[in-house]
Amino acid sequence: MSGQPEFTSEIRDGIEFFDCGDGNGFEQCARCGSSVGFDDCWNCGGDGTVEVDWGDDLCYSAYERRCEYCAGRGGRYVCCSSREYCEANPMPERAHIASPALPPSTSKPVSDSPSAMGTEKEGV
Ligand SMILES: [Zn+2]
Ligand SMILES: [Zn+2]
Repeated sequence: MSGQPEFTSEIRDGIEFFDCGDGNGFEQCARCGSSVGFDDCWNCGGDGTVEVDWGDDLCYSAYERRCEYCAGRGGRYVCCSSREYCEANPMPERAHIASPALPPSTSKPVSDSPSAMGTEKEGV
């Protein structure tokens, strides 16, 4: 009964990870404070591992290797705001943190019927 629960947080790769202490947590952009999304790794599809098979008929075997592109994380968190916004609106004392937002040039192509996806906002 000593007041508010204390959140601890840790900043990794431009993302601030909050630990609420009970197994729950949340993440936000460590630079601008926007919510974050998870960008699946293109190499492993979000599994964090890639299957390697030897293609040997006599001794077929496959094993899983940690994906080197995401270091087994399955992808990475990215700032949901645009890179432009994120860089222009850092929170106090966070301007030194590199924006984790995807730069426009590497954004995923959205040419496939963007209107069909609707404009739902992601809730929390
Ligand atoms: Zn990967
Ligand atoms: Zn941001």
